[in-house]
Amino acid sequence: MALYTLGHHELDTRHPDLDILAAVIADGSADRELFHAANRVKTEEFGNKVFVRGIIEFSNYCRCTCAYCGINARMTHAKRYRMLPDELVETAVRTAEVYRTVILQSGEDRFYTAEMLADIVWRIKQRADCAVTLSVGERSMEEYRLMREAGADRFLLKHETANAVLYESLHGVPLETRLDAQRRIKALGFELGGGFMVGLPGQTDETLAKDLMTLVNEGVEMAGIGPFIAHPDTALAGTPDGDPHKTLKVLALARLLLPRCHLPSTTALNVKGGMKNALLCGADVIMQKATPFEYRKLYDIYPGRDALEVPLKEQYETLRRRLAEIGLSAE
Ligand code: SF4
Repeated sequence: MALYTLGHHELDTRHPDLDILAAVIADGSADRELFHAANRVKTEEFGNKVFVRGIIEFSNYCRCTCAYCGINARMTHAKRYRMLPDELVETAVRTAEVYRTVILQSGEDRFYTAEMLADIVWRIKQRADCAVTLSVGERSMEEYRLMREAGADRFLLKHETANAVLYESLHGVPLETRLDAQRRIKALGFELGGGFMVGLPGQTDETLAKDLMTLVNEGVEMAGIGPFIAHPDTALAGTPDGDPHKTLKVLALARLLLPRCHLPSTTALNVKGGMKNALLCGADVIMQKATPFEYRKLYDIYPGRDALEVPLKEQYETLRRRLAEIGLSAE
């Protein structure tokens, strides 16, 4: 279905209109219809399945200065860590015994050359039957090519906000550099994962509508949409966090616009207690921590993240039971 009546608004997802998207986000009267429609689309596309991924945060060194992030390069007091290639490969292979997709995520850490990352991916793929997703930031076409040729399947790189002025004020570089990197990734045949934050200071509902259209226009196949959470040690300390309810509405709209797109219940949304709700209004993916215990607390991009020391299989079984209680099945 492409035409949805949401309260007073008619949303045609074949020709989405920015003003209508912004109006639906602003208007609380159609929320139930919106969530119901998103859940129906998600169920039509994926049944009752929830795709569970294991994420390994392998380095918290970062050259970037994203204003909201607790491990940005200016956080000189942050305790830093790096997993060396052998340790990372072993961790990934063990993770793949439980999860079918392994996500390797780090800050933008140039210690890992493209050759190193490609070798890590290749070694994992030799030993484990899993998809490998990379989330290591902006690199050149040649660097991305090496990673792709080594067997990396997917790449996560969020655009964070479609408001170019806001993007530059938070990141110190133009939004276009991020979109160009996304296009390189897409051109190489990776499944592209995008996404953005809800509730950034200065963001409007029109910006969020543009964020949704950016997902459509860039052809993302996955999208992480989470509430902004202020880190107390950053310049944005004290800024109110993003609204979880509004985040769910934007997520639900993403499901209507992109029926086949993989949409996680993001960890930021889970921190705000939104996992179950997200899975019932459009999300079809959960990411579970597979980072070795000693590093979990150190990957401190925003406060409140789960750093529990639960073994992978136990963690997966607990999740499987929780999903079954709401009629969903872990894949
Ligand atoms: S958000 Fe990511 S890229 Fe930005 S400073 Fe934090 S780890 Fe680095």
